[in-house]
Amino acid sequence: MKVTEHIARANGKTLFSVEILPPLKGKSIQSIYNILDPIMEFKPAFIDVTYHREEYVYKKRENGLLEKFSMRKRPGTVAICSAIINHYNVDTVPHIICGGFSREETENALIDLHFLNIDNVLLLRGDAIKSEPVFEAHPLGHRYAIDLVKQVANMNTGKYLDEELQDVTPTNFCIGVAAYPEKHFEAPNLTTDMRWLKSKIEAGAEYLVTQMFFDNSKYFAFVEKCKEMGINVPIIPGLKPITTRKQLTSLPKAFHVDIPQELIDRIEACKTDADVKSEGIQWCVEQSKELMKAGAPCLHYYTMSNAEIRVPSRMPSMVPMVSSEMMAASTTRLMSLP
Ligand code: FAD
Repeated sequence: MKVTEHIARANGKTLFSVEILPPLKGKSIQSIYNILDPIMEFKPAFIDVTYHREEYVYKKRENGLLEKFSMRKRPGTVAICSAIINHYNVDTVPHIICGGFSREETENALIDLHFLNIDNVLLLRGDAIKSEPVFEAHPLGHRYAIDLVKQVANMNTGKYLDEELQDVTPTNFCIGVAAYPEKHFEAPNLTTDMRWLKSKIEAGAEYLVTQMFFDNSKYFAFVEKCKEMGINVPIIPGLKPITTRKQLTSLPKAFHVDIPQELIDRIEACKTDADVKSEGIQWCVEQSKELMKAGAPCLHYYTMSNAEIRVPSRMPSMVPMVSSEMMAASTTRLMSLP
């Protein structure tokens, strides 16, 4: 089922969803099930699986020289989505990125997804390869996410790259795109960034998932500004609990987001690592409660983690807390649309 259908059927109730990373190359699908097993109890509406482009790695040869290899460290997004559907009977949302792909490779991947009955895609530009200072588009690929949106929207109307194809079957993907309440780091200002965001919707995007934020007022202001600009699709807030002290600096650096002083003070007052984790989760629960009360369509939790190492210690403890808050909120009728 499409993400937008999930939201419509929830009839104002706040859903929850999670985002996982494919495991590192060489690991098994069981590592994904190990993450998801404890989460499934709380019935996520859908599960996003990220896409990771190639990286350059250097290996030392016998003659002492370094050889440069291109390597995709976390392959398998499409297969993982399909495996999750079969294993849990839950909808999945594969992320599709522009970076590293020609338009034809993208089309072929979308055909695979269509054959697999996957109804949703989150379309993104992707970031620069780690060793490159700026994003470089594939010579035969897309420069911006909007171009990817147009390609999928075309396929949804039966328009493939080869326009001479006969008797084509249109796809029927529900298209999501990324949004940045604190603006995308390359955009000169929030208004410009949101104009491009609006053009992604005009091109066919049906819902937004935001970058993580730690201050709900940023999300509320963003939703208001979206309304003013005529952006009326569901805006799903992205959330992540802080679980280590180091994240107070690593998350702003990696994701270009601010951390409120109150959260910093609370984390810095913690005596142990366990206290830090508990405080970070508590903050996220408080954020979740407020967002639910304000009628957010869905709460989307980033795991951002290595499948084997970090998620099991983090998400299961997070989800039950959030979910029990959800239940409490629903019984006390806190969930209402704005
Ligand atoms: P775009 O919408 O293309 O925007 C990129 C920049 O260009 C922005 O500054 C925008 O203002 C500007 N812009 C947009 N359109 C135009 C235009 N036509 N002309 C000029 N300027 C324009 N990355 C991954 O590699 N894999 C993932 O799985 C992944 N999942 C993500 C999930 C979410 C919810 C989010 C928020 C991000 C995710 N990312 C992922 C990161 C994302 O790829 C980066 O943030 C990337 O830098 C921008 O992607 P975008 O789709 O927002 O780009």
